[in-house]
Amino acid sequence: MSKAISAVKKIYYECGITDPLDLPIEIIIGSKNILIKEEEIDGADGRILMKEDSGIITINSAVDFYPKKRFILAHELGHFELHRHLKIGYSDNDETLNHSYQNYFNPEEVEANEFAAEFLMPTELVSKECYKRVFNHKVIEHLATRFQVSKTAAILKFVMKDNGNHPVFVVCCQDNKMKWFKPSYDWRYFSLFKKDLPPPSGSVAFEVFKKGISYYGKEASQQIWKSDWFEVKDDEPDSKFYEYCLFVPSLNYMISVIWED
Ligand SMILES: [Zn+2]
Repeated sequence: MSKAISAVKKIYYECGITDPLDLPIEIIIGSKNILIKEEEIDGADGRILMKEDSGIITINSAVDFYPKKRFILAHELGHFELHRHLKIGYSDNDETLNHSYQNYFNPEEVEANEFAAEFLMPTELVSKECYKRVFNHKVIEHLATRFQVSKTAAILKFVMKDNGNHPVFVVCCQDNKMKWFKPSYDWRYFSLFKKDLPPPSGSVAFEVFKKGISYYGKEASQQIWKSDWFEVKDDEPDSKFYEYCLFVPSLNYMISVIWED
């Protein structure tokens, strides 16, 4: 078990909870002697200052989406639990909160995100919610509502957990460039991902950036072809895949989930 996941289990045990909604995260943070403040911060969504037995979390008052606020709080709590002996503080922005999943140069941010994801969406409960459900955008919407998290956070948790019931491949793009990808542990195709290039032309991600089209509701899962994102050998027939794109206009940020029926 990773350090981040053991740290989450320890807090659940200490607080006597089994579900993230049993106790508001603000109360759990308060019980650690950490004060939560909201104020305008330049260039960060949240930050934490820590001592051995106390801390101060500041959330940028411009963050008004409650699920995002919860994610930042959980991320900062992760720094407190895992890193207070390493540094006195962390400042978090789009880069550390949304892109630090594959960044091996920033292991503390990867850990804080893993902590936050597990804290808000414990793997066991997520697996229960997904049990025998075929992957599609409704699973993500369901997880986001059930755990009061953003859909982006739900997608990342879905792909990170290593007991998924449906193989998926996640690609993150920003400003029309591919940034990073993450296959679920059981994904078996070789992707055409190339860092900092635009997404491939047949993909939904490409359409969204190129034409400014976003899909909602029924249209949210689009049919594509395997060859749009993955290597297809010469003697192999192309096959139907699906892509679900979640676009965050304020950051020009996009998460694509790709899967096969
Ligand atoms: Zn951080």
